[in-house]
Amino acid sequence: MNSSTIDLHVHTTASDGTLSPSDTVRRAAELGVTLLSITDHDTTEGIPEAQQAAAASDIVLLSGVELSVGSGEREIHVLGYFIDPNHRPFQTILSKLRGARDVRNERILARLKELGASVDPQRVRHIAGDGSVGRPHIAAALVEAGHVASQGEAFGRYLARGKPAYVGRERLSAADAAQAIREAGGLPVVAHPAKSGLIGQIEDLAAGGMEGIEVFHSDHSERDVEILLGIAREGNLLVTGGTDSHGPGSGKWVEIGSVAVPKWVGEELLRRAPQAERAER
Ligand code: AMP
Ligand code: ZN
Ligand code: FE
Ligand code: FE
Repeated sequence: MNSSTIDLHVHTTASDGTLSPSDTVRRAAELGVTLLSITDHDTTEGIPEAQQAAAASDIVLLSGVELSVGSGEREIHVLGYFIDPNHRPFQTILSKLRGARDVRNERILARLKELGASVDPQRVRHIAGDGSVGRPHIAAALVEAGHVASQGEAFGRYLARGKPAYVGRERLSAADAAQAIREAGGLPVVAHPAKSGLIGQIEDLAAGGMEGIEVFHSDHSERDVEILLGIAREGNLLVTGGTDSHGPGSGKWVEIGSVAVPKWVGEELLRRAPQAERAER
């Protein structure tokens, strides 16, 4: 029954994962994954390399992205599947979002300096490599500089929301993100709604353009899954699932393909993607 392994949520070095896009695809293939999506934060830069690697394997690779959206206190993560990575207006939005990251990162580093936990901006850039810079890279630099023992401690003491070096950044509204993803040929999906504390807001998000919810996720309990499946069924929302793996050696290591995602999830995703073909042309 479970002859296919599905992972629709994986990060690579194009954002804050530890494996390159091609190594991610190869590792996924070795682990028996047959349907994979690369969903880096605010970037699709990893997709061409991943597609090449997928062509040399049995993996079906869906293009993907994960956007952080929302206003004020609330952060909502939105996955976009089947987006056309060559869609110009979408790339313009992504580069603006990465610009907002850079502004935010500078402010985080300034706060850390005030707090007596200075890190070298060059080291952060170096740790991030070619990818878009995120808090995990700053966390790694804090460990390297000896200010904390682990990336978990870096978040717990400094970087997590509510901690002294936390800085928010400019974000799209959820509805704008959903629209941008649709215009790029994609399906907007609310990422890990239970983890994000969004279970009560799914109906509103769906009214604002979200077409699906990520039900299966490494941080979702069986009870979360049950609740979310019920909500999806009632709201006729697409169901997705994945590990949110950031690769070995990342702050919170989850193996690719290690969350059980039922086969029907992949089948329905492929069925409910009427715009996918258009995006591929
Ligand atoms: P950013 O996109 O720069 O805001 O960073 C978000 C990323 O930081 C998430 O995707 C996780 O990989 C990581 N992250 C967020 N909160 C924590 C935490 N409390 N502990 C460890 N990693 C975290
Ligand atoms: Zn991440
Ligand atoms: Fe997320
Ligand atoms: Fe993620």
